[in-house]
Amino acid sequence: MTAKQALGRAREILASGNIEDAPLESELLLRHTLKLSRVELYLELDRALTPQEEKAFRQVVERRLSGEPAAYITRHREFYGLDFYVDPAVLIPRPESELLVEKALRLAQNGTISTIAEIGTGCGAIAISLALHLPQARIYATDISLPALKVARVNCQRHGAADRIRLLHGDMLDPLPGAVDLIIANLPYVRESELPPPPQFEPILALDGGADGTDRIRRLCLKLEGKLRPGGWLLLEVGEGQSPTVTSLLYHLFPGAKIEVTPDLSGIDRMLSLSLAPAQQLALFST
Ligand code: GLN
Repeated sequence: MTAKQALGRAREILASGNIEDAPLESELLLRHTLKLSRVELYLELDRALTPQEEKAFRQVVERRLSGEPAAYITRHREFYGLDFYVDPAVLIPRPESELLVEKALRLAQNGTISTIAEIGTGCGAIAISLALHLPQARIYATDISLPALKVARVNCQRHGAADRIRLLHGDMLDPLPGAVDLIIANLPYVRESELPPPPQFEPILALDGGADGTDRIRRLCLKLEGKLRPGGWLLLEVGEGQSPTVTSLLYHLFPGAKIEVTPDLSGIDRMLSLSLAPAQQLALFST
């Protein structure tokens, strides 16, 4: 069987198993099996697979068919144009989270952001994307999961960002040494009732947002005192239908703050950005 035939066969199998984007996934899996770059694969489409390669490819296609994400099989995921190592200790970065990075970079261009904290960094994709585009910024990245922080460390090293990002172990904002200009977070926000059925591949800790999905996000909002500088920014990713709940909590905590809701490419309100007025205090704590 040639590489081209293997690709065609995998596409059919994955498509019939209702795997979205079967052509792209087939290519990722074949490149992974043959250890080829995209260009190399296309130059070698007519080469015959060895029996071992055929067997290995069949096995990865079967794993994919049984629901294991391609990113865990290949141990790679692209985010914001960068290649990240991922494994089952971390959530696989989603393209919609690039909204957070884009917004943070726009804010930083205006010159007001020098310290950034990413809460729940997982594989480190957001923090590292920011570090590479903002050479002057001091960046903290926290996670409650030590295995996740190990993955983040691998990625910091891979991208030469190890001395730019301080990885901190702990709950939410607790490990931060002080207040920062920007807090950015893609916390777990999947409603309990909508968690993926077994077999679960991604860490539940990174997905489970409690009954309405906003438990973790609300907890972060309530712990912001002393962690966000006056004039600072908070960027949060939220799940579908969650922006009214989180927005009203934020207005309650920060009367007078400006809050913007940004939809993702599917039109779902996905990112909340809050800008704190200079010298604004948390209403909850200032009375
Ligand atoms: N966007 C992810 C999903 O829908 C969830 C990510 C998260 O909980 N932060 O599976």
